[in-house]
Amino acid sequence: QDTLLEVKNLHTGFNIDGRVHHAVKDVSFSVKPKEVVCIVGESGCGKSVMSLSVMNLLPKHNGKIDKGEILFEGRDLAPLSEKEMNAIRGKDISMIFQEPMTALNPVLTIGYQLDEVLINHTTISKEEIRRKSVSLLKQVGISRADQIVNEYPHQLSGGMRQRVMIAIAIACQPKLLIADEPTTALDVTVQAQILELIGKIQEEVGMAVLLITHDLGVVAEMADRVVVMYAGQVVEETDVDRLFYEPKHPYTKALLESIPKMDEKRDVLNTIEGIVPSLKNMPEKGCRFVDRCPAAMDVCREMDPILGETDKGHAVRCFLYEESFPQSSDKRAEVQ
Ligand code: SF4
Ligand code: MG
Repeated sequence: QDTLLEVKNLHTGFNIDGRVHHAVKDVSFSVKPKEVVCIVGESGCGKSVMSLSVMNLLPKHNGKIDKGEILFEGRDLAPLSEKEMNAIRGKDISMIFQEPMTALNPVLTIGYQLDEVLINHTTISKEEIRRKSVSLLKQVGISRADQIVNEYPHQLSGGMRQRVMIAIAIACQPKLLIADEPTTALDVTVQAQILELIGKIQEEVGMAVLLITHDLGVVAEMADRVVVMYAGQVVEETDVDRLFYEPKHPYTKALLESIPKMDEKRDVLNTIEGIVPSLKNMPEKGCRFVDRCPAAMDVCREMDPILGETDKGHAVRCFLYEESFPQSSDKRAEVQ
């Protein structure tokens, strides 16, 4: 099957006090047409920086893609100009964020903001535009669509605003929707409704979804394939069943163990001990999980583990598995 998005070897750096720190270091993964890929990890793992890199929305003053390719239908997005990216954003690739209020313009009506996307990216006639906007709102489950088009973002609830964002995102039938923690700011019941909506829309539009989350419940619900990130790197990648039933990386295992069990009475979540190293405190060499890993060995401090496949479609970055990589010595030679 062909690939829609292929991120290869991505390095995204931030200039802090004159030094470049990599929030994303050597990240590679791909998304096939119509596939739902979840990127999972704790906050500070580089998930959002990765998605902003793909959309070319990094903070201009200090963030920069240093290396790597972002191939969308075979075309590298990394070197594109703002103007070229504007033609792609909202049309072929759309994005929704955690807080829709920041993405919507507070002084423009919902209808105006939907119309604008259609005017910019389609050839729909002026008379048809508003009708299309109303029908998009209905598609995302807004029944009072005729009234909502004349309202402003602050007049809507958080869940309704996220529905509006989804309507804007799908207005041009994108091939890829990037959703960065789209339900994190919402109440639990609304979260479930929005996830269900994303799933329904994904099928209707036939688009792929790159869903960024820290919530393994969301992953179980939505994902076809899962990419686990830790401290700016991919540490495991596989299909959703193998992630839950045959996790390999110690970090993935710890994440799974941190999910509260149904039969456990707990007031607090089990958490993984320790914290993700901050950008400024990233170890110079060795495995970035070493200080929190129950299986750490001497070699883990001395060399960087490489990402390799243990079985077809199941990749992991950990010395516990390197022996089982095919051609592991070749791969190791490449990075040294
Ligand atoms: Fe743990 Fe070593 Fe594997 Fe890192 S490489 S996850 S420290 S065993
Ligand atoms: Mg984030």
